[in-house]
Amino acid sequence: MAETIQHDVVIIGGGGAGLRAVIAAAEAHPDLDIAMVSKVYPMRSHTVSAEGGAAGVIKDNDSKENHIHDTISGADWLADQDAVEYFVDEAPKELTLLEHWGCPWSREPDGSVAVRPFGGMLIERTWFAADKTGFHMLHALFQTSLKYTQVTRYDEWFATRLLVENGRCQGLTAIELRTGQVRTILAKAVIMCTGGGGRIFPFTTNAAIKTGDGMGMAYLAGVPLKDMEFVQYHPTGLPGSGILITEAARGEGGILLNNKGERYLEAYNLGTPLDVDDPEHPVKRSMELGPRDRLSQAFMHEQDQGNVFDSEFGTYVQLDVRHLGEKEINRKIPFVRELAKNYGGVDPVNEPIPVRPVVHYMMGGVATDISAATELPGLWAAGETACVSLNGANRLGSNSLTELLVFGARAGEGAAEWAREHPDFDTAALEAQAEAEQRRIADNFINKQDGTERISTIRTELQTAMESGAGIYRTEQSLQATADKIAELKERFKNVGLDDHSLSFNTELTSALELEFMLEIAESLAHSALQRTESRGSHQRTDYEARDDANFLRHSLARYNAGGAPAIDYQDVVITNWPPAERVYGAEETVVKTDDV
Ligand SMILES: Cc1cc2nc3c(=O)[nH]c(=O)nc-3n(C[C@H](O)[C@H](O)[C@H](O)COP(=O)(O)OP(=O)(O)OC[C@H]3O[C@@H](n4cnc5c(N)ncnc54)[C@H](O)[C@@H]3O)c2cc1C
Repeated sequence: MAETIQHDVVIIGGGGAGLRAVIAAAEAHPDLDIAMVSKVYPMRSHTVSAEGGAAGVIKDNDSKENHIHDTISGADWLADQDAVEYFVDEAPKELTLLEHWGCPWSREPDGSVAVRPFGGMLIERTWFAADKTGFHMLHALFQTSLKYTQVTRYDEWFATRLLVENGRCQGLTAIELRTGQVRTILAKAVIMCTGGGGRIFPFTTNAAIKTGDGMGMAYLAGVPLKDMEFVQYHPTGLPGSGILITEAARGEGGILLNNKGERYLEAYNLGTPLDVDDPEHPVKRSMELGPRDRLSQAFMHEQDQGNVFDSEFGTYVQLDVRHLGEKEINRKIPFVRELAKNYGGVDPVNEPIPVRPVVHYMMGGVATDISAATELPGLWAAGETACVSLNGANRLGSNSLTELLVFGARAGEGAAEWAREHPDFDTAALEAQAEAEQRRIADNFINKQDGTERISTIRTELQTAMESGAGIYRTEQSLQATADKIAELKERFKNVGLDDHSLSFNTELTSALELEFMLEIAESLAHSALQRTESRGSHQRTDYEARDDANFLRHSLARYNAGGAPAIDYQDVVITNWPPAERVYGAEETVVKTDDV
């Protein structure tokens, strides 16, 4: 094998979480040798496509109590409250830091930072940079990371396995995509920042690279995946492509209409619309700005009643922003207009936009504690790949961009500290593991000539099974069918064959490796969902319609089991000051101002 590479801290992933972790580690201990491995050039990470904004309490009419309350109730009480409190406390600091690094937050006329309303939030608190927030955040993080000369970047390197020896994570193997070589990278601490895995579903806002690799790597290394059954459908994706129409369109006043021209959310107990309510009322959470799980479920009910439009790309409802006028649309949500014109075939200035629910985000992921550490010493995780848990059973829009800053930073600091205290490697054993991984990739893929199964067939069958059995509504029967299908596909995957046996930029090989991870995380999801016999947040069981706090106010932990289905275990939710209650959305809620607390 090629020469072994060695660093103190290695971050896998060059998105928002990865870059924030890099900066934090470099700042914490400037003497450390840090590296970042990313399968794409960092600016191509999915964070770049985030549109709407990042939440953090900044205005006097708001308070941290409000943000904590919104996040916990939005999560249907499955969030760990100590993590939420920490997050809400750190959020404004992180967003301000980002401003200092060059993120051009949109402004009020008086020059202060502007905030917009977002789904499930009692009051407006979402910072934004027009509707290209992720792009600007990622730029600010990336350019800041460049000033740390102690950081080595491995762009377009595909991580395949974690190296674990003596009960410690001590590195990884990665394919250098340009040469196709499998390389060994030893690290005293590893931080997993590989993003989500929405691609296990057929219709998603997620970039093609979001295949859950890091969840798969941690899971195969023995780390449990937490709360995998909770998958967020965003209520407004463009039919056909799944391209996201950001919640900011509704935050700025967009309304949803069914095929009868009705503002159908009126029937779903999601509060009073802003325009018919007292405009001075401080609660800014209106029907269209209800939480995403409730809105996506409402769509399904409208569909059942025949109240949706039909098209060659499936059913849809309409998102109407015409009343905002061309000037406001161009100023506040220019990207929405661009996307609707180019990919939805309508100009929202003149016509409503066709939209339908689309898989958007995974609340679950690599189980970490509040300091972003996993139970495997030497391994941290942050960003969408991790589950702290901040988002519980349903994430609120705009909490994720802030989460990757808050917990990315925490992971970077923790990993840096650990690396200073654990100087030694079990080099010989780690190199033997890496050689085994190199052989596995050669034998199972590159050099294998007789495989008859196609990657695309297995992937399509997986995605179809996920949507039909583990979508917005689920039953024991549907989930069991999905779980059985995944077990069958895992078997068939052993016989997968590649057409491309070359080494340089072999995208068929990386597709195969991604599919291998997808099958694993999909299986953990199906079994976690099967065993959660209640309905909570985004996990809706039509055979168990009620929330069941007595049995399921707990996180599920799925552990890899080489012999078959994952073992599912549970962990108590951390409750501090907010005892479980019913989720209520509407004008009866009260806003707490900073002066009041
Ligand atoms: C269209 C869209 C709009 C969104 N809008 C918002 C919003 O307005 N507000 C909000 O709060 N959230 C939003 N979200 C969610 C949020 O953007 C994501 O959850 C977040 O950006 C994820 O960041 P991350 O750093 O965890 O992962 P990513 O940005 O996805 O980065 C993952 C990184 O991991 C690397 N990687 C993955 N696998 C491997 C491997 N095997 N080897 C090496 N490297 C690997 C990739 O190269 C990449 O650099 C949006 C999401 C989407 C899809």
